[in-house]
Amino acid sequence: MEHYYQPEIECASREQIIALQNERLVKQVRHVYDNVEYYRKKMEEKGVTPDDIKSIDDLHKLPFLTKDDLRDAYPYGLVAVPLSDCVRIQSTSGTTGRRVVAFYTQHDIDLWDECCARAIMAVGGTKDDVVHVCYGYGLFTGGPGLNGGSHKVGSLTLPMSSGNTDRQIQFMTDLGSTILCCTPSYAAYLGESINERGLKDQIKLKAGIFGAEAWTEEMRRDIEKSLGIKAYDIYGLTEISGPGVSFECSEQTGMHINEDHFIAEIIDPNTGEVLPEGEKGELVFTSITKEAFPLLRYRTRDICVLTRKKCSCGRTHVKMSKPMGRSDDMLIVKGVNVFPSQIETVLLNKGYAANYQIMVDRVNNSDTLEVQVEMTPEMFSDSVTEVAAKEKELVNALKAMLGIYAKVKLVAPKTITRSEGKAVRIIDNRHLY
Ligand SMILES: [Zn+2]
Repeated sequence: MEHYYQPEIECASREQIIALQNERLVKQVRHVYDNVEYYRKKMEEKGVTPDDIKSIDDLHKLPFLTKDDLRDAYPYGLVAVPLSDCVRIQSTSGTTGRRVVAFYTQHDIDLWDECCARAIMAVGGTKDDVVHVCYGYGLFTGGPGLNGGSHKVGSLTLPMSSGNTDRQIQFMTDLGSTILCCTPSYAAYLGESINERGLKDQIKLKAGIFGAEAWTEEMRRDIEKSLGIKAYDIYGLTEISGPGVSFECSEQTGMHINEDHFIAEIIDPNTGEVLPEGEKGELVFTSITKEAFPLLRYRTRDICVLTRKKCSCGRTHVKMSKPMGRSDDMLIVKGVNVFPSQIETVLLNKGYAANYQIMVDRVNNSDTLEVQVEMTPEMFSDSVTEVAAKEKELVNALKAMLGIYAKVKLVAPKTITRSEGKAVRIIDNRHLY
């Protein structure tokens, strides 16, 4: 049976959702214009006033906000209420450039918790569940978000935070955790550890809510198998609130965006033009209920597709696909969009680890693509002929995925440089920009 936290809004008609968005957008633009000097200047530069925004059809008239704006306005430049009305901050890890600091009023926190409560109920959560949260707590939004959602649902919440795998597994078995919330890579690790210890029959998990990092369908199947659960995706970003901006339902074919709080657009990352439904482009969010840190037309840099196709779960909010990469990562090779995540999927499918590097170059006015992949230790002892056969197998699989030829070079294990933060996956020697 499908559970909803707020069925009247989650299953509202399209007309009701649009009416609500229109009303909230008009109000929000006025709030931001009146209280955020930084954005008011941007609107003035574009020649737009709040009077020009009468409905969501006028949304495209508003200027975008980017990560650079957040950096310029750091720390208080985008806060729209007196600091005395703010009750909390959350922050990003700051691995790429300066960290983002987002502000919340109590009302903002309540709405964020409700979004996470919807996500928990969409995976079957009820007040009888034991929700095991091993996202990090503290500045990171993962722990506090799902923790708040679990409280709203009325589930028993285990605020485990990350790390200490032995303790995680002990609480899981002793207290009968039923819903696991963490990053997909930690879920995979927990699955492995539980199976190694022979404890699989002692855990009661039925579902998991996994987000905060990119993962593939293959990884979903692996986690579902090793933990014996259904694995659901959740999406969010600190700039917009945190996890729960969108979440997966029982259909597991994309994430419903909480459209009563966030308006989603897909734009061409190069021109900024709004693209029609079903086209792939950069996801842009406008938060229409946030008080303290209300970003309008914030460019997420995530590339995905939106669909309003009827969903079997009964929810009517638009669905977004799993992000297919970052707009900064998107490569255009021979006129075709190539994402590192597509290449990674092929490699994982064929039994390789995600240690690879993509080299792009231009030779005689024609793009070349080469993927260097580390062999597994077992493969390393293979003969030259066997290695060549494996390279050919990858060439064919990549061609099927990308539609273009990529040269493949298998290299010795541990020869591709590891990095502390984000791995350097792409080396583009074309110098096109
Ligand atoms: Zn659905």
